[in-house]
Order: sequence, then structure tokens, then C-alpha cells
Amino acid sequence: MKIEERGIRKWWQALPPNKKELFKESVRKNKWKLFLGLSSFGLLFVVFYFTHLEVSPVTGRSKLLLLGKEHFRLLSELEYEAWMEEFKNDMLTEKDARYVAVKEVVHHLIECNKDIPGISEINWIIHVVDSPDINAFVLPNGQVFIFTGLLNSVTDIHQLSFLLGHEIAHAVLEHAAEKASLVHFLDFLGLIFLTMIWAICPRDSLALLGQWIQSKLQEFMFDRPYSRTLEDEADKIGLQLAAKVKYLVVENTQCPSHSKR
Ligand SMILES: [Zn+2]
Repeated sequence: MKIEERGIRKWWQALPPNKKELFKESVRKNKWKLFLGLSSFGLLFVVFYFTHLEVSPVTGRSKLLLLGKEHFRLLSELEYEAWMEEFKNDMLTEKDARYVAVKEVVHHLIECNKDIPGISEINWIIHVVDSPDINAFVLPNGQVFIFTGLLNSVTDIHQLSFLLGHEIAHAVLEHAAEKASLVHFLDFLGLIFLTMIWAICPRDSLALLGQWIQSKLQEFMFDRPYSRTLEDEADKIGLQLAAKVKYLVVENTQCPSHSKR
């Protein structure tokens, strides 16, 4: 994700020494102008951030969305093809009892939650992979991947329903697009920040400090509170999705919302 930074570094390394000196000299002369310019650029980014926020119709939480929906769908399609290629020899057939069981659970989750915005717009497709991995994931375009290792480790259908509900919630809440947007945004912001430091004091040691701050910031956003927020959100919505189906299994009738009508 550091393409922009690497590009600049390459350009700098390719400059002949006399050009480097000239460049440094002009930077030194104009450092406050440069600083001001970059600050306004940074400010522009902050404004950009707040004008590109979108409120989730499910959770009501604001999030940054930089990539267009079509663009992101295309990326999901590529990711889907890569996974299919990787698991092509381990896919269970649609006739396999385990496939049928998963299909039933997903079908109930979707059917009973049609009122949740986004659920019925996605075409949910199930893939059961014969692998001991205790894992399941759902791509943003609705491709559900679940491993037999996970199927063997769940105790009952409710547990499976909750786990799948959690993964489906990630897709419905567009967590992947949100995360990718934030990574891009932080990258650009970090680049501006590093250039600013470098403009004021063109020493490598200071650039290193800037890089350290940037990496700490990303760690804070993605490894700790931010990722936790997304997981908690998927847990909460996933539980809500599964709760409606649980009713269905116990009563062995229709979805509660349907039977009330
Ligand atoms: Zn999760």
C-alpha cells in the first residue's frame, strides 16, 4: 500500500547528486511556503474525509467510502476467482449433506432478514471447502466460503447460524470497503505528513521518526480499537440475524416477521 511513497523514493534515488543539492537548496529557501502549501493540502484532505462519510443504514455509524461500489465489486470478483482457483480441488458438491446443511442455514439467515438493508441486494452463493481449517468468510459480493473444519467444530446449528450471521454481517455492513478506504486515506495523509517533516528538516532521521509515527497510527487503527469495533459490530448484527432464524428452528415454522403478518 506504500506505492506513492516508494515512487517518490525511487525518483529521489535516481537524481544525480548536483540535482539533489539544487533541489534541497530550493526546498530550504521555500520551506515555509512549502509547509503552508502542504498544510492546506492536509486540511483539504480532512475536509475531503468528512464530505465522503456515509452513514450505514444498518448501524447508523458514519464511515469513509472512497471506492465506488462498482470498483469494489470488481475487486471482490478478482478475489473470488483467486479463492476458487485455490480451493478448486477441495470443493464439496451441492449434493453433499454438509453442503445442504450450510445452504439451509444461509437460506434461513437471508430469508428471515430481508428487512435489513443490503441483504436482498446481494446474491449469496455458498462454497463448502473440504479442509481442516476452522474458518469461514464471506466476500463483499456475497460469496460464502466455509471450511469443513469449522463445521466439525461447531456444536449445533445455532452456533453455525451465529458464525455465518457474523460473516454475512461483515459483507452487509461493507466492512472491507470501509477498511480499504481508511488504509488509502491514511497512506495519503501519512505521505503529506512525511513530506512536511522532510521539507522543514531534510534529514533521514526525521523521516524515520515520521514513518514510526505513521506505523504506530496504523497499528492503533487496525490492530486494536478500530478492528475491534468492526468485529463487535459484526457480532451484534450477526447475532440479530441469527436470532430471527433461531426462532424459526425452534418453532419449525416461518420467520417470526412473516408469521405475524
Ligand atoms: Zn469478524
